[in-house]
Amino acid sequence: MLDKIIIANRGEIALRVLRACRELGIKTVAVHSTADANLKHVLLADESVCIGPAVSTQSYLNMPSIIAAAELTDAAAIHPGYGFLSENADFAERVEQSGFIFIGPKSETIRMMGDKVSAIKVMKQHGVPCVPGSGEPLGLDPDENLRVARDIGYPVIIKASGGGGGRGMRVVHNQAALLHAINVTRSEALAAFGNDQIYMEKFLEKPRHIEFQILADHHGNVIHLGERDCSMQRRHQKIIEEAPAPGITDAQRAQMGERVVEACRAVGYRSAGTLEFLYENGEFYFIEMNTRIQVEHPVTEIVTGIDLVKAQLMIAAGEKLPWTQDDIVLRGHALECRINAEDPKTFMPSPGPVRLWHAPGGPGIRVDSHLYSGYSVPPHYDSLIAKLISYGDNRQEAIARMRNALSEMVVEGIKNNGPLHQEILAHAAFERGGLDIHYLERRLGLK
Ligand code: ADP
Repeated sequence: MLDKIIIANRGEIALRVLRACRELGIKTVAVHSTADANLKHVLLADESVCIGPAVSTQSYLNMPSIIAAAELTDAAAIHPGYGFLSENADFAERVEQSGFIFIGPKSETIRMMGDKVSAIKVMKQHGVPCVPGSGEPLGLDPDENLRVARDIGYPVIIKASGGGGGRGMRVVHNQAALLHAINVTRSEALAAFGNDQIYMEKFLEKPRHIEFQILADHHGNVIHLGERDCSMQRRHQKIIEEAPAPGITDAQRAQMGERVVEACRAVGYRSAGTLEFLYENGEFYFIEMNTRIQVEHPVTEIVTGIDLVKAQLMIAAGEKLPWTQDDIVLRGHALECRINAEDPKTFMPSPGPVRLWHAPGGPGIRVDSHLYSGYSVPPHYDSLIAKLISYGDNRQEAIARMRNALSEMVVEGIKNNGPLHQEILAHAAFERGGLDIHYLERRLGLK
């Protein structure tokens, strides 16, 4: 096993990684910005190193600082969490070149999947179904781009090949709007991601977002852990996730699972990863792969009984996966509500001191949160403050328990989106399940 690792992240995921390390007897080094000296995992870690000022470009995105911290503390490996440098192929490469283990896939795999056009190409090549689209980056010839859109059929969506976090996308409903949309998306992509490559896909009108979790070791063993439904989104950002996806049959799961496993084996994937699909009229369409642990990983952990972060650590240490596909049996149902420090109506961020934090509990409740009473949420970072996870023998029980949990949770001092979750869960449409990705925005009157 690894002796000591750097946790190169913050908030709930840093605490999640710390907990896994403690279980496995791995020593931890928390690297943090000046704004984060009081983070819960920083206080609990064996060692901590301040790597820079609050602004993340100078701290959590500061590669030399993080690598220097690994050298200084004699750590063996670096866990990047999600966001920040977790899908930065240059960082993974520099970590390895400096003699440390990057807890994730090889840098070339990250690079291939980070470029969405190349990810789609490689998945297609290995038999994974993709959204009808340009298949190639869009060129500069307007006539050619008009032809591509005509062939695909409107509406289309223009997407940045290097995009992420739900940004860098634009829907186009007719020919008149296409060329302008291409130009704007291209310049936004360059400004936001330093890469002006864009591509075009059919815009699916009422799809669900369903993704498959996989685990792969260094010895060619690859398994899938079933799927998650993450269709409850606002601005392409997930807010509620669940496993398994309502209505997906065992046969569908087995068939898609086999395809994603085959594709991951073919590209020499290792560590945890997620293949994201849109699902419409019974068909799956690959949209992208995330080469890291995801925010919503707990719902899969609950229905499979497998600790994904511990699995990442074991894989990074070179161990073989202790499970075969036949060992993976889904049990019950799990839901996750992302609790953000924001106004539940206007969605304006609401950082500041937490006067009181009371976490819900009881049967079938897990809370992943770095909050404590007296902690102050800094304004510089993502607004995720807690993940409420509920589970039950079936979806109905998981929903009932989540309703309890939401009603018990107390966050005083800052606003949070708990009331929005309560409202969503109160609806019969949610109870039925299988809602599409645009449902929430339609309900909020944004569409
Ligand atoms: P990101 O990396 O920014 O998360 P994705 O490609 O995963 O980008 O897309 C994020 C979300 O955008 C999807 O979950 C879906 O809601 C929406 N989306 C992406 N592609 C399409 C499409 N072809 N049709 C309809 N919606 C789409």
